[in-house]
Amino acid sequence: MNVNHPSLSFEVFPPNTAAGTANIKETLDRLQALNPNFISVTCSNNKSNIEETTLKLAGYINNTLKVPAIAHLPAAYLNTQQVTRILTELDSLHIHQLLALRGDIIPEVPRKDDFKYASDLIRFVHAQKPGFKISGACYPEIHPESPDLVSDIRYLKQKVDAGCNQLITQLFFDNDRFFTFKENCALAGIKVPIIAGIMPITNRKQALRLIKTTSAHLPKKFLAIFDKYEHDPASLRTAGLAYAVDQIVDLITRGAAGIHLYTMNHAETAINIQNTIGSLFNSSAQLNN
Ligand code: FAD
Repeated sequence: MNVNHPSLSFEVFPPNTAAGTANIKETLDRLQALNPNFISVTCSNNKSNIEETTLKLAGYINNTLKVPAIAHLPAAYLNTQQVTRILTELDSLHIHQLLALRGDIIPEVPRKDDFKYASDLIRFVHAQKPGFKISGACYPEIHPESPDLVSDIRYLKQKVDAGCNQLITQLFFDNDRFFTFKENCALAGIKVPIIAGIMPITNRKQALRLIKTTSAHLPKKFLAIFDKYEHDPASLRTAGLAYAVDQIVDLITRGAAGIHLYTMNHAETAINIQNTIGSLFNSSAQLNN
Protein backbone atom coordinates (compact mmCIF):
# COMPACT_ATOMS: atom_id res chain seq x y z
CA MET A 1 0.00 0.00 0.00
CA ASN A 2 1.25 3.48 -0.81
CA VAL A 3 1.34 5.58 2.36
CA ASN A 4 1.77 9.38 2.21
CA HIS A 5 4.73 10.29 4.37
CA PRO A 6 4.77 13.69 6.09
CA SER A 7 7.59 16.22 5.90
CA LEU A 8 10.15 16.80 8.67
CA SER A 9 11.58 20.27 9.19
CA PHE A 10 13.38 22.27 11.87
CA GLU A 11 13.32 25.80 13.29
CA VAL A 12 16.48 27.59 14.41
CA PHE A 13 17.11 31.18 15.55
CA PRO A 14 20.03 33.52 14.77
CA PRO A 15 22.30 33.29 17.82
CA ASN A 16 22.83 36.46 19.84
CA THR A 17 25.66 35.34 22.11
CA ALA A 18 29.27 34.37 21.38
CA ALA A 19 28.62 30.83 22.64
CA GLY A 20 25.52 30.56 20.47
CA THR A 21 27.43 31.73 17.42
CA ALA A 22 30.18 29.20 18.07
CA ASN A 23 27.58 26.41 18.39
CA ILE A 24 25.23 27.16 15.48
CA LYS A 25 27.32 25.81 12.59
CA GLU A 26 27.88 22.48 14.31
CA THR A 27 24.15 22.28 15.11
CA LEU A 28 23.26 23.00 11.50
CA ASP A 29 25.75 20.44 10.18
CA ARG A 30 24.10 17.83 12.39
CA LEU A 31 20.60 18.90 11.34
CA GLN A 32 21.62 18.82 7.67
CA ALA A 33 22.68 15.17 8.07
CA LEU A 34 19.04 14.37 8.92
CA ASN A 35 17.96 15.52 5.41
CA PRO A 36 15.11 17.77 6.52
CA ASN A 37 12.62 19.11 3.99
CA PHE A 38 13.50 22.63 5.13
CA ILE A 39 15.03 24.60 7.99
CA SER A 40 13.32 27.84 8.99
CA VAL A 41 15.13 30.77 10.61
CA THR A 42 13.28 33.03 13.04
CA CYS A 43 13.49 36.82 12.96
CA SER A 44 13.05 39.25 15.81
CA ASN A 45 10.59 42.01 14.93
CA ASN A 46 12.67 44.32 17.10
CA LYS A 47 15.79 44.04 14.95
CA SER A 48 16.73 46.46 12.20
CA ASN A 49 19.57 44.30 10.80
CA ILE A 50 17.56 41.40 9.36
CA GLU A 51 20.15 41.06 6.57
CA GLU A 52 22.92 40.37 9.10
CA THR A 53 20.91 37.95 11.23
CA THR A 54 18.04 35.96 9.69
CA LEU A 55 18.99 36.37 6.04
CA LYS A 56 22.67 35.60 6.60
CA LEU A 57 21.88 32.38 8.46
CA ALA A 58 19.16 31.39 5.96
CA GLY A 59 21.66 32.01 3.12
CA TYR A 60 24.20 29.72 4.80
CA ILE A 61 21.59 26.96 5.20
CA ASN A 62 20.33 27.31 1.65
CA ASN A 63 23.56 27.84 -0.27
CA THR A 64 26.33 26.21 1.78
CA LEU A 65 24.41 23.34 3.37
CA LYS A 66 22.03 23.02 0.39
CA VAL A 67 19.01 22.56 2.64
CA PRO A 68 15.96 24.62 1.54
CA ALA A 69 15.70 27.57 3.94
CA ILE A 70 12.60 29.49 4.98
CA ALA A 71 13.22 33.00 6.35
CA HIS A 72 10.70 34.27 8.93
CA LEU A 73 9.60 37.82 8.22
CA PRO A 74 7.56 39.70 10.86
CA ALA A 75 6.46 42.97 9.26
CA ALA A 76 4.59 45.01 11.88
CA TYR A 77 7.63 47.29 12.19
CA LEU A 78 8.61 47.35 8.51
CA ASN A 79 7.36 49.48 5.62
CA THR A 80 6.91 48.47 1.98
CA GLN A 81 10.36 49.80 0.95
CA GLN A 82 12.08 47.73 3.62
CA VAL A 83 10.14 44.59 2.69
CA THR A 84 10.91 45.13 -1.00
CA ARG A 85 14.62 45.34 -0.13
CA ILE A 86 14.40 42.13 1.91
CA LEU A 87 12.61 40.30 -0.91
CA THR A 88 15.31 41.39 -3.36
CA GLU A 89 17.97 40.14 -0.96
CA LEU A 90 16.15 36.80 -0.57
CA ASP A 91 16.01 36.51 -4.36
CA SER A 92 19.74 37.13 -4.66
CA LEU A 93 20.33 34.41 -2.03
CA HIS A 94 18.16 32.03 -4.14
CA ILE A 95 15.75 31.73 -1.21
CA HIS A 96 12.21 31.72 -2.54
CA GLN A 97 10.37 30.71 0.61
CA LEU A 98 9.35 32.76 3.63
CA LEU A 99 7.12 32.62 6.69
CA ALA A 100 5.11 35.84 6.52
CA LEU A 101 4.18 37.16 9.96
CA ARG A 102 2.76 40.21 11.63
CA GLY A 103 4.98 39.59 14.65
CA ASP A 104 4.30 40.29 18.29
CA ILE A 105 3.38 43.85 19.16
CA ILE A 106 5.81 45.70 21.43
CA PRO A 107 3.61 48.31 23.16
CA GLU A 108 6.38 50.88 23.60
CA VAL A 109 7.55 50.74 19.96
CA PRO A 110 5.42 52.69 17.44
CA ARG A 111 4.19 50.49 14.58
CA LYS A 112 4.47 51.15 10.86
CA ASP A 113 1.12 51.25 9.04
CA ASP A 114 1.95 49.23 5.92
CA PHE A 115 1.43 45.70 7.26
CA LYS A 116 -1.23 45.66 9.94
CA TYR A 117 -1.80 41.90 9.67
CA ALA A 118 0.17 39.00 8.23
CA SER A 119 -2.38 38.79 5.40
CA ASP A 120 -1.30 42.30 4.26
CA LEU A 121 2.29 41.09 3.99
CA ILE A 122 1.25 37.87 2.23
CA ARG A 123 -0.75 39.85 -0.35
CA PHE A 124 2.22 42.17 -0.91
CA VAL A 125 4.79 39.35 -1.28
CA HIS A 126 2.45 37.41 -3.57
CA ALA A 127 2.12 40.44 -5.87
CA GLN A 128 5.84 41.32 -5.82
CA LYS A 129 7.23 37.78 -6.05
CA PRO A 130 4.56 35.45 -7.47
CA GLY A 131 7.03 32.54 -7.53
CA PHE A 132 7.72 32.63 -3.80
CA LYS A 133 6.28 29.92 -1.56
CA ILE A 134 4.63 31.69 1.37
CA SER A 135 4.00 30.03 4.73
CA GLY A 136 1.79 31.50 7.44
CA ALA A 137 1.49 30.95 11.20
CA CYS A 138 -1.60 29.36 12.76
CA TYR A 139 -2.81 28.61 16.27
CA PRO A 140 -4.60 25.32 17.11
CA GLU A 141 -5.57 26.83 20.48
CA ILE A 142 -6.48 30.25 19.00
CA HIS A 143 -4.17 33.28 18.77
CA PRO A 144 -4.05 34.98 22.21
CA GLU A 145 -5.45 38.26 20.83
CA SER A 146 -8.43 36.63 19.11
CA PRO A 147 -11.81 37.21 20.72
CA ASP A 148 -13.13 33.81 19.60
CA LEU A 149 -12.51 30.77 17.42
CA VAL A 150 -14.79 31.91 14.60
CA SER A 151 -12.95 35.20 13.99
CA ASP A 152 -9.57 33.48 14.34
CA ILE A 153 -10.45 30.95 11.62
CA ARG A 154 -12.09 33.61 9.45
CA TYR A 155 -8.88 35.70 9.49
CA LEU A 156 -6.80 32.60 8.86
CA LYS A 157 -8.87 31.92 5.74
CA GLN A 158 -8.14 35.51 4.61
CA LYS A 159 -4.45 34.76 5.07
CA VAL A 160 -4.67 31.68 2.87
CA ASP A 161 -6.77 33.49 0.26
CA ALA A 162 -4.11 36.24 0.16
CA GLY A 163 -1.61 33.69 -1.19
CA CYS A 164 -0.33 31.54 1.65
CA ASN A 165 0.71 28.04 0.46
CA GLN A 166 1.09 26.26 3.80
CA LEU A 167 0.55 26.83 7.51
CA ILE A 168 2.84 26.05 10.44
CA THR A 169 1.29 25.80 13.87
CA GLN A 170 2.22 27.27 17.20
CA LEU A 171 3.57 24.58 19.52
CA PHE A 172 0.99 22.41 21.26
CA PHE A 173 0.99 19.30 23.46
CA ASP A 174 -2.56 18.05 23.06
CA ASN A 175 -3.09 16.44 19.66
CA ASP A 176 -6.88 16.45 19.96
CA ARG A 177 -6.75 20.25 19.90
CA PHE A 178 -4.72 20.08 16.68
CA PHE A 179 -7.17 17.72 14.99
CA THR A 180 -10.20 19.78 16.06
CA PHE A 181 -8.46 22.84 14.63
CA LYS A 182 -7.70 20.96 11.39
CA GLU A 183 -11.39 20.01 11.08
CA ASN A 184 -12.45 23.62 11.67
CA CYS A 185 -10.02 24.74 8.96
CA ALA A 186 -11.47 22.18 6.55
CA LEU A 187 -15.01 23.39 7.32
CA ALA A 188 -13.87 26.97 6.60
CA GLY A 189 -12.44 25.89 3.21
CA ILE A 190 -8.77 26.11 4.25
CA LYS A 191 -7.14 23.46 2.10
CA VAL A 192 -3.39 24.17 2.33
CA PRO A 193 -1.14 21.71 4.22
CA ILE A 194 -0.99 22.32 7.99
CA ILE A 195 2.39 21.46 9.50
CA ALA A 196 2.42 20.67 13.23
CA GLY A 197 4.94 22.64 15.33
CA ILE A 198 6.34 20.42 18.08
CA MET A 199 8.71 21.32 20.88
CA PRO A 200 10.13 18.29 22.73
CA ILE A 201 10.60 19.21 26.40
CA THR A 202 13.75 17.54 27.72
CA ASN A 203 14.99 19.62 30.66
CA ARG A 204 13.66 21.24 33.83
CA LYS A 205 14.42 24.85 32.88
CA GLN A 206 12.54 24.47 29.60
CA ALA A 207 9.60 22.76 31.33
CA LEU A 208 9.34 25.41 34.06
CA ARG A 209 9.43 28.24 31.53
CA LEU A 210 6.72 26.52 29.53
CA ILE A 211 4.47 25.83 32.53
CA LYS A 212 4.80 29.49 33.57
CA THR A 213 4.30 31.17 30.21
CA THR A 214 2.42 29.02 27.71
CA SER A 215 -1.24 29.35 26.90
CA ALA A 216 -1.10 25.84 25.38
CA HIS A 217 -3.07 23.14 27.18
CA LEU A 218 -0.68 20.85 29.08
CA PRO A 219 -2.28 17.39 29.34
CA LYS A 220 -2.18 15.42 32.62
CA LYS A 221 0.18 12.90 31.05
CA PHE A 222 2.64 15.71 30.26
CA LEU A 223 2.47 17.24 33.76
CA ALA A 224 2.85 13.79 35.38
CA ILE A 225 6.22 13.36 33.65
CA PHE A 226 7.39 16.66 35.08
CA ASP A 227 6.07 15.87 38.57
CA LYS A 228 7.84 12.51 38.67
CA TYR A 229 11.17 13.46 37.09
CA GLU A 230 11.59 17.17 37.86
CA HIS A 231 14.79 16.47 39.85
CA ASP A 232 16.09 13.57 37.74
CA PRO A 233 17.49 15.17 34.55
CA ALA A 234 18.30 11.91 32.73
CA SER A 235 14.82 10.43 33.30
CA LEU A 236 13.13 13.76 32.50
CA ARG A 237 15.00 13.84 29.21
CA THR A 238 14.11 10.22 28.35
CA ALA A 239 10.44 10.67 29.25
CA GLY A 240 10.21 14.08 27.51
CA LEU A 241 11.58 12.58 24.33
CA ALA A 242 9.20 9.61 24.58
CA TYR A 243 6.28 12.06 24.98
CA ALA A 244 7.37 13.92 21.83
CA VAL A 245 7.82 10.68 19.87
CA ASP A 246 4.39 9.45 20.98
CA GLN A 247 2.83 12.79 20.04
CA ILE A 248 4.51 12.79 16.62
CA VAL A 249 3.54 9.19 15.79
CA ASP A 250 -0.09 10.00 16.68
CA LEU A 251 0.03 13.13 14.50
CA ILE A 252 1.54 11.26 11.57
CA THR A 253 -0.83 8.31 11.71
CA ARG A 254 -3.86 10.62 11.96
CA GLY A 255 -2.83 12.64 8.92
CA ALA A 256 -0.68 15.68 9.84
CA ALA A 257 1.00 17.06 6.70
CA GLY A 258 4.36 17.50 8.40
CA ILE A 259 6.24 17.92 11.65
CA HIS A 260 8.23 21.10 12.34
CA LEU A 261 10.55 20.72 15.32
CA TYR A 262 11.36 23.77 17.41
CA THR A 263 15.02 22.82 18.02
CA MET A 264 16.09 25.77 20.22
CA ASN A 265 19.39 25.48 18.30
CA HIS A 266 20.17 21.99 19.68
CA ALA A 267 20.44 19.05 17.29
CA GLU A 268 20.41 16.25 19.86
CA THR A 269 16.64 15.91 20.23
CA ALA A 270 16.06 15.99 16.47
CA ILE A 271 18.69 13.27 16.03
CA ASN A 272 17.03 11.12 18.67
CA ILE A 273 13.64 11.51 17.04
CA GLN A 274 15.07 10.75 13.62
CA ASN A 275 16.85 7.65 14.93
CA THR A 276 13.62 6.37 16.50
CA ILE A 277 10.97 7.16 13.87
CA GLY A 278 12.89 8.61 10.90
CA SER A 279 11.44 6.05 8.48
CA LEU A 280 7.93 7.51 9.00
CA PHE A 281 8.91 10.72 7.21
CA ASN A 282 9.18 11.26 3.49
CA SER A 283 12.32 10.11 1.67
CA SER A 284 14.14 13.45 1.64
CA ALA A 285 14.04 13.40 5.44
CA GLN A 286 15.54 9.94 5.90
CA LEU A 287 19.09 9.32 6.95
CA ASN A 288 21.65 8.43 4.29
CA ASN A 289 23.00 5.29 5.86
P1 FAD B 1 -1.77 37.67 12.14
O1 FAD B 1 -2.09 36.53 11.24
O2 FAD B 1 -1.79 39.04 11.54
O3 FAD B 1 -2.80 37.60 13.37
C1 FAD B 1 -2.62 38.43 14.51
C2 FAD B 1 -3.96 38.61 15.21
O4 FAD B 1 -4.79 39.45 14.41
C3 FAD B 1 -4.76 37.32 15.39
O5 FAD B 1 -5.47 37.41 16.60
C4 FAD B 1 -5.71 37.31 14.20
O6 FAD B 1 -6.88 36.53 14.42
C5 FAD B 1 -6.02 38.80 14.07
N1 FAD B 1 -6.36 39.23 12.71
C6 FAD B 1 -5.80 38.79 11.55
N2 FAD B 1 -6.35 39.45 10.51
C7 FAD B 1 -7.28 40.33 11.02
C8 FAD B 1 -8.17 41.29 10.45
N3 FAD B 1 -8.24 41.48 9.13
N4 FAD B 1 -8.96 42.02 11.30
C9 FAD B 1 -8.90 41.82 12.66
N5 FAD B 1 -8.09 40.91 13.25
C10 FAD B 1 -7.28 40.18 12.43
N6 FAD B 1 7.23 36.07 15.83
C11 FAD B 1 8.35 36.77 15.55
O7 FAD B 1 8.46 37.94 15.93
N7 FAD B 1 9.39 36.20 14.85
C12 FAD B 1 9.34 34.94 14.37
O8 FAD B 1 10.27 34.46 13.74
C13 FAD B 1 8.15 34.16 14.64
N8 FAD B 1 8.00 32.91 14.16
C14 FAD B 1 6.82 32.23 14.36
C15 FAD B 1 6.66 30.97 13.80
C16 FAD B 1 5.47 30.25 13.97
C17 FAD B 1 5.31 28.89 13.34
C18 FAD B 1 4.41 30.82 14.75
C19 FAD B 1 3.13 30.05 14.96
C20 FAD B 1 4.56 32.08 15.31
C21 FAD B 1 5.76 32.80 15.13
N9 FAD B 1 5.95 34.09 15.65
C22 FAD B 1 7.10 34.79 15.39
C23 FAD B 1 4.94 34.67 16.55
C24 FAD B 1 3.92 35.57 15.82
O9 FAD B 1 4.59 36.65 15.24
C25 FAD B 1 2.89 36.05 16.84
O10 FAD B 1 2.08 34.98 17.24
C26 FAD B 1 2.08 37.28 16.45
O11 FAD B 1 1.39 37.73 17.62
C27 FAD B 1 1.04 37.02 15.37
O12 FAD B 1 1.63 36.89 14.14
P2 FAD B 1 0.76 36.36 12.90
O13 FAD B 1 1.60 36.43 11.71
O14 FAD B 1 0.11 35.07 13.23
O15 FAD B 1 -0.36 37.53 12.86
